[in-house]
Parts: sequence; structure tokens; C-alpha cells
Amino acid sequence: MPRRTPAPYASGVPDPALQLSPSAGGRPDLEAAELWQLLDDAPSAVLLVRSGHPLLWANAPARTLFGSADLALTGRLLTDLMPTLKPEDLAGQGRRATDREHVGGRRTVQAGVRADGTRFPAEVTVSVTSAAGADFLVLVRELDTGPSDDQAELAALRERTDVVFDSLAEGVLGIDGSGAVSFGNLAAAQLVQRRRTDLPGTPWHSVLHGDRCTLDPCALADPLALAGQTISPVELRRRGGGTLPVEISLRMLRGGDGAPGVVVTLHDLTERLRMEQLKDELVSTVSHELRTPLTSIRGSLSLLRAGAVDPGSEQGRRMIEIATTSSERLSRLLDDILDLGRLQAGKVPLSISRQNATTLLAAAAQAVSGSAVTGGVLLRTVENEERVMADADRAVQVLINLVGNAVKFSPPGSTVTLAARREGDRVLLSVTDEGLGIPSDQLGRIFNRFAQVDGSDTREHDGAGLGLAIAQGLAEQHGGTLTATSELGTGSTFVLSLPAAPAR
Ligand code: ADP
Repeated sequence: MPRRTPAPYASGVPDPALQLSPSAGGRPDLEAAELWQLLDDAPSAVLLVRSGHPLLWANAPARTLFGSADLALTGRLLTDLMPTLKPEDLAGQGRRATDREHVGGRRTVQAGVRADGTRFPAEVTVSVTSAAGADFLVLVRELDTGPSDDQAELAALRERTDVVFDSLAEGVLGIDGSGAVSFGNLAAAQLVQRRRTDLPGTPWHSVLHGDRCTLDPCALADPLALAGQTISPVELRRRGGGTLPVEISLRMLRGGDGAPGVVVTLHDLTERLRMEQLKDELVSTVSHELRTPLTSIRGSLSLLRAGAVDPGSEQGRRMIEIATTSSERLSRLLDDILDLGRLQAGKVPLSISRQNATTLLAAAAQAVSGSAVTGGVLLRTVENEERVMADADRAVQVLINLVGNAVKFSPPGSTVTLAARREGDRVLLSVTDEGLGIPSDQLGRIFNRFAQVDGSDTREHDGAGLGLAIAQGLAEQHGGTLTATSELGTGSTFVLSLPAAPAR
């Protein structure tokens, strides 16, 4: 039977008259045109090849794969498309499709070349055929582990890992078996004050202790020996000078080649140590503050119990008075400490409503009037019409503290003025005294817990330095502020700013 050549691929469906394959029993009896169409629609690239001749035909996926949608593949040899294909890959087939043993074809991996010269890895299956005058039917599938895809995916993955790695607050350093840094994240570079790019290759010990470590031998010099340990605190000698307390955790890490190394996590301890110091100070201050009234109570009571003082006598009544005042002070102190704790935890419930500023100021003046009279200080409240949004009890508590302090630190015969004025959407409630005044370098710290002006005789004034810390916390909880201005020897003004109530 004379061979008939299929029409070139570019014309779409080849000559329908071509006999693609003899219909075998049990198979659908398809028209040749339908078979060509099926081949053209196949998901794989299909090439029909006659030994020693240019390509006979290529289906649509083959034209796409080799980037020759509009270029004729005809006239080109199979080895132009796949130069790595050896003659034996074809010749080795040796037998015809009728030979049942070879129906599955032979699979190899070849390099495919697109029209633009780019290469791609391809899985190639060669089968023997007698269809349409061809010798071989070649199926070509691009392997989806294409290097370009891999690289792009790898680059994206690396970028993501880098972002995560660099957003860690903890410093991370990789150390190789020789003790040199192999990698480090941004936090590590910042902690040790070196450029990130300078880290790789730098000996771990010099990153940690600088170039001149005074310890010989230094227990931290061999990171591999410390793998598995967490050491704290470690003094990091920074490149820019100075030291930083850190905690280091060392974990063994085996590299891709199985070589041992360690990953070191560096955690800045500055804040933790500061908090611990604050806590220690707080505990010792609180103990001290509690001990003073307790000592008075114990002393008075033991004198009375021992019968050394007659409770009915003048001295006895003084003892009882001291014990009572001290226990009241103790109770106030405990209330204050609890208040502070609640304020810090944001657990002071406020019942905010519209309040008359003058009423609040007058309530505070009333509460402090006893000590004002005792101290010979005049309290003057300036009437006004301002209204604020506040929790009346808590606002009065703040004002009592301010007026109480003003009275405490004012000389007899002076005046403490309470006033309110509107400023924008705020009402400023002020307490002005003509007292000692506060040195400007201490104005900021008097709002801290247990802070008192250095050298002031506040111990005589029965204070623990908690009042303003609580008052400021309460002001802020209202969405307001508490500030102070002062002039030594002239007096001070404390201003509580609260949200103004909307007009009715
Ligand atoms: P304290 O209970 O000791 O008064 P505060 O927190 O209320 O605690 O005040 C802290 C410190 O601020 C006071 O001990 C005092 O040194 C200073 N201070 C507060 N108000 C005044 C004022 N009106 N005049 C002078 N010093 C003041």
C-alpha cells in the first residue's frame, strides 16, 4: 500500500481520507477526521515521525510546547526539537506497533528546545506506528519540575522565610562547627551592633565578647560544647561599646551535609531585669511603708498591755490615739496599693455621668477643710458653670488628693484656690497653692509610685508618694490628664483635665 503523507500540522486537521489506524475489533469505529481531531485535542504533545525524514505532523499541544504555533515544524528534524534524543532511542524500538510487547513505547528524559532557543526537561515516549505513513509516534510531556519554576518557588519561599526570620524579636545566630557565625537575623545584628552582612564568618566568641575577652578560658567560647543549654544572664559586649544582659539558648543543628553546628537564640534581658528591679523596689518600699505605722501600733499597744501606761491617763489616751491613727494610715495605704494595682490592670469601674465642676471642687474642699483649718490655710472655690463627664466619687478622690497636698505643703495664712474653666472640649479643674513649690527637675517624677520630692519633709506630712500616681491613673481612665506647674517658693498648680459635658 502506497504511503500517504498527512497534511502539515498548520492546516489543522489533516486529510480525512488518511487512514490513521486500522479499526480493531471492539474499538469504536472512528472516522479518520475524528481521530486526527482527538490527537489534536490530546493533552500531550504528539509528533509523527518517519525515520530519516523531517517531521510529518505535530498536534496543537506540540506546537505550543515547542513555541512554534505559527512556525512550521515541517522541514525540521526530530533531533532539532530534542537534540539529546539518540538514534538508538528511536531505532531501538525496532519493531512495529503490531508487536504487542512494545505497545507501551519507550520512555526517556530529553532536553526539549523551543523556537526561541530555551530548553526544558521533557519526558519522551516513543512508540512504533504505521499510521499515516509514519514510523514513530512521539509523545512529549514537559516535566513540571522545570528549573525556572523551582527557582521561582524557592526564591519566594526564601523571601518568606527571610521576612519571618527578620521579624523575630529574638536574635538568632547559626554557628558552624568551627565556631564561626554562618547566618544571623536582623535582631541578632542589632543586639550585637554589627552589620548583618559582617556576621557570616565572624567567630562566635568575638561576636559575644568582642576581640579582647578577659576570661581565659572563657566558658562560652565553645558553643558546640554548650548545645542544649540556656544560660542567663550573659553579658554581651557590644561592638559600639557598652554591654547588654542577654539570655542565650543553644540548640544543636546538623547542616545538610550532616556537619554539626548550633543555633543560638539571643534574648535581650534589659526589660525583664528592669521589671525585676522595679518589683524588688516596690516590695521593699511597700514593706517599709507598712512597717512604719505597724511599729507605732505595736509600740503603743505593748506599752498599754504591759501596764506601763494607764489607758485612762493623758499618756495612755495619746498611745491609743497613735495606734488608731497608725492603723487608719495602714488601711489607707493598703487601699492605695490595691487601687494602684486595679488601675494598672484597668479594673477600676467608672460610672461616668454629667457633673457640675463646682460641686466636685466644693466636695473636695469640704473633705479637706479640717486639715486646712488645722494648718491655717484658706480654701477658696471659684464658682463656675462648667459641666464635665466624670465618675463623681473618683473625680472627687483625685481632687481631694490635690487639695490635700496643697494644704500639706502650704504655709499658714496662705490660700489654696480651686477653679474650673473650659478649654475646647475639655474642662480644666485647677488647684493652686502658695506653698513650697516643686523643683522643676522633680515635677515629672512626682507622679511616679512612691515618689516624693527629695528632701521634702513629707514623712512628717504622712504620705507614701502614692496619691499622685493614683490620681493620674484615674484621670487617664476618664480620658483626661493630670499635670502640674510650679515655681519654687511661689507655689504650684495641679490641673485635672476632664472631657466637657455636651451642651444640653
Ligand atoms: P504623698 O502622699 O507623699 O503626698 P503624692 O503622690 O500625693 O504623695 O505626692 C508626691 C510628692 O509630690 C509629695 O510627697 C510632695 O513631695 C510633692 N507634692 C505634691 N503636691 C505638692 C504641692 N502642692 N506642693 C509641693 N509639693 C507637692
